[in-house]
Amino acid sequence: MLMCYDPARRLSQMRVRAEAMLVGVRMLFDLIDMKTSLNENPDGPALKPGPAHIRLEDVTFAYGERKVLQNVDMDIPAGQLTAIVGLSGAGKSTVMNLIMRLYDPTEGKVTIDAQDISGLRASSLRRALAYVGQDTFLFSTSILENIRYARPDASDDDVKAAAEAAFAHEFIIALPQGYQTQVGENGAFLSGGQRQRISIARAFLKNASILLLDEATSALDAISEEKIRDAVQVLGRGRTRVAITHRLSTIMAADLVYVMEDGRVIESGSVDALLRADGPFKDLYDKQFG
Ligand code: ADP
Ligand code: MG
Repeated sequence: MLMCYDPARRLSQMRVRAEAMLVGVRMLFDLIDMKTSLNENPDGPALKPGPAHIRLEDVTFAYGERKVLQNVDMDIPAGQLTAIVGLSGAGKSTVMNLIMRLYDPTEGKVTIDAQDISGLRASSLRRALAYVGQDTFLFSTSILENIRYARPDASDDDVKAAAEAAFAHEFIIALPQGYQTQVGENGAFLSGGQRQRISIARAFLKNASILLLDEATSALDAISEEKIRDAVQVLGRGRTRVAITHRLSTIMAADLVYVMEDGRVIESGSVDALLRADGPFKDLYDKQFG
């Protein structure tokens, strides 16, 4: 029980939970003792396929007593890259948690193509979403099976094609057992960059219409970082992308930027417009990139 009081551990479990949901393994909640209290709506309507336009409408949210989002409105256009920036603790990852429906808003709603996600069959929502976060959930099995979890009916060739697209194939075949390599307890035998590339391979295999990226602040080695950036760029083409980011290259590539502070959206617009406005975004930008 003691681990519940360790915030770092709690956050890392949240990310594991996020990815576990999206690899679609319900059983896992029993294993890691994190049953969701949300209504899965097994008989509810499926998400109708569409361009994947996401909206948060006047969303307020609290983890228990603690309010972390306050009247948040976001319009996340289909097929584009939307960046969310702001200091640590501003509520960025929480926005993503609500889009994945790890939680329901306390007030307001989240919609995808005008469908309130809280009423949808949860499995259909998860199929539409791919998440690449700071931690990658790995099962204690082979690399091949770990990637395949994203789409259990995928052939070995499909898995390998996804790994190639994610720039993971190279490092995998360099291992003595290749795709049959056992990753160890939660991927202990792999580096952070390798684990992340497996996560990206899963996202390719899943071919979801919405891609959620919560970029790591911790430094990966330079080669991993560059490969991950390239892979994500290819993966993202034509999909609705939401990126929580501190990287200049991602911010500059964004079609739209939301700036968050203390659970609120304090500014939004194109990078050019925000720089010209000389407000909070410009401050953040100057501080981070000088
Ligand atoms: P950001 O991603 O911008 O750093 P988060 O959305 O992770 O911010 O967190 C916003 C606030 O909510 C922070 O104060 C954080 O400590 C708190 N928080 C995040 N996750 C949880 C959780 N699972 N339970 C309780 N509080 C949380
Ligand atoms: Mg975060």
